[in-house]
Amino acid sequence: MSDKGLLFVVSAPAGCGKDTILELMLRKTDSAGYSVSATTRAPREGEIDGVHYRFLTRERFEEMIKEGAVLEYTEYCGNYYGTLRESVDSLLSQGKDAILKIEIEGAMNIKKQFPDCCLVFILPPSMAELERRLRNRGTETEDKIKERLAQARNELEAADNYDYLIVNGELDKAVDDIIAVMRAEKLRRGRNAELVKEIKGED
Ligand code: 5GP
Repeated sequence: MSDKGLLFVVSAPAGCGKDTILELMLRKTDSAGYSVSATTRAPREGEIDGVHYRFLTRERFEEMIKEGAVLEYTEYCGNYYGTLRESVDSLLSQGKDAILKIEIEGAMNIKKQFPDCCLVFILPPSMAELERRLRNRGTETEDKIKERLAQARNELEAADNYDYLIVNGELDKAVDDIIAVMRAEKLRRGRNAELVKEIKGED
């Protein structure tokens, strides 16, 4: 079985539980790591620089783009978000799978640069359940909830461009599903071209 690190890109509309699924998945495996993105948005309570994001000023972010240190970036709600070349390289060079938690446009950019990467999309079980979860957070105004639901509807259209769809109905099952996807990707014939020869003892 291939022991080379692979690139997994995970996207989901807000409220689908992407962060929780990935956090639980990463606790269950030591063969993968989260690629820490850079952003110019302010840290939220409890967020740690270098763990959740690299928190940068706009000036520094723009410098890093010029230096070629950013693989892809986007502007979202007035802030830059981008994948750092170094974050991905350091995981892959340790033989680990790199997990990129990025939005759709960024995912499509990464696919262009790394056609071999695996794209995973997380879906809510239904729009009604997504609405219920957004309301339960209790942090958003009615207008914001409506806006997020409309945005989610749009984003779901992009699911067609992804390799795997995971429905986050039951959290444990969704975590198992993403682990299964990662295992299955490693077993792909194309990633194990030399395996049959090795087994036959041919070089
Ligand atoms: P948040 O501010 O809630 O942490 O993230 C906002 C959005 O930015 C989420 O959809 C998240 O997936 C996306 N995002 C985070 N990091 C990156 C990145 O490096 N590149 C891109 N393209 N999107 C990102």
